[in-house]
Amino acid sequence: MHEVVIAGGGPTGLMLAAELALAGVDTVIVERRTDGALDGSRAGGLLSRTLEVLDMRGVAERFVREGTTHPVQGFATMMLPIADFPTRHNHILGLWQGHIERILGQWVRELGVPVLAGREVRGFAQDHDGVDVALSDGTALRAAYLVGCDGGRSTVRRAAGIAFEGVDATTSWLIAEARIDEPPLGVRWDEAGMHAIGPADGGANRIVLTERGLPSGTPDIGVLREALAGVYGSDLGVREATWISRFTDMTRQAAEYRRGRVLLAGDAAHVHPPHGGQGLNTGVQDAVNLCAAPRPRRCSTPTTRNGTRWAPACCTTRWRRSR
Ligand SMILES: Cc1cc2nc3c(=O)[nH]c(=O)nc-3n(C[C@H](O)[C@H](O)[C@H](O)COP(=O)(O)OP(=O)(O)OC[C@H]3O[C@@H](n4cnc5c(N)ncnc54)[C@H](O)[C@@H]3O)c2cc1C
Repeated sequence: MHEVVIAGGGPTGLMLAAELALAGVDTVIVERRTDGALDGSRAGGLLSRTLEVLDMRGVAERFVREGTTHPVQGFATMMLPIADFPTRHNHILGLWQGHIERILGQWVRELGVPVLAGREVRGFAQDHDGVDVALSDGTALRAAYLVGCDGGRSTVRRAAGIAFEGVDATTSWLIAEARIDEPPLGVRWDEAGMHAIGPADGGANRIVLTERGLPSGTPDIGVLREALAGVYGSDLGVREATWISRFTDMTRQAAEYRRGRVLLAGDAAHVHPPHGGQGLNTGVQDAVNLCAAPRPRRCSTPTTRNGTRWAPACCTTRWRRSR
């Protein structure tokens, strides 16, 4: 019997696992992926507040040394200066999601949290004392709590019967990572909306194109070439695409974040368009908020210069008290 089973080892699940481990709560992660690899770059970095919470746990530097700092915060396509923010992290950090997950994963391993990789949570049954969690390999885990950190299509949320309320997509964007020899870097606008080409890891480019209408299906290189030609007048010789996908502005939130012994966090609890660069950041902060409570107490973990002390030890009290 574990105290907590976390479904999903993305950024939210990893952060929650670290928080619980620091609090001495027996936790296990069940993660569908076998090797932790992401199918695309997705999030591009960490915001000030996320860096602050990582700093409180003493690990912000691990991320900062691998990324690039920028003393600005995007707001409605404008870049606002934040160098005078009263925080040690008065900047955003450019770092792709794959690197963020790798660093979080390494920390979670150091903290000794087991990760059952290559397995899915398929369903659960809860009673007064705990939750039986059914896994895809036919086995089951028993825990006091199950937390669904399993992304926007959350199996846990669906199995719990929690509604995902909000608004349907009105706009679709094509996103790709591929090579272009002389890319027209930057943003371009036309009547469809905004399009952008920027750098990606390994000398590749990240391409985001506003689509006309709401196409469905998995896009391929042909769709990407056609869309580039529609915006730039040619397909720019695009090749070696390692990721072609779509995202939309669908915005939804779980009607409840907790039902009995089952909780939701991160994309499992809320999805919104990624343009503001908030999804991963919100998920990491969900995990910290779920686990810890601000308290004026002595604590060995670092805090922000101006901040309240956050003590992971209080998680133990809170999680155990609520059993
Ligand atoms: C194109 C794009 C750009 C983005 N840019 C940004 C950005 O700049 N900044 C930002 O903050 N956010 C950004 N986001 C959003 C960000 O990627 C997500 O908000 C973030 O990944 C959510 O983390 P999560 O851990 O909650 O969910 P996920 O990352 O979806 O992780 C869920 C995990 O659960 C696993 N899983 C799923 N189902 C099961 C199951 N049944 N059992 C076990 N495991 C399961 C999955 O394999 C996955 O590892 C972007 C997203 C996209 C698509």
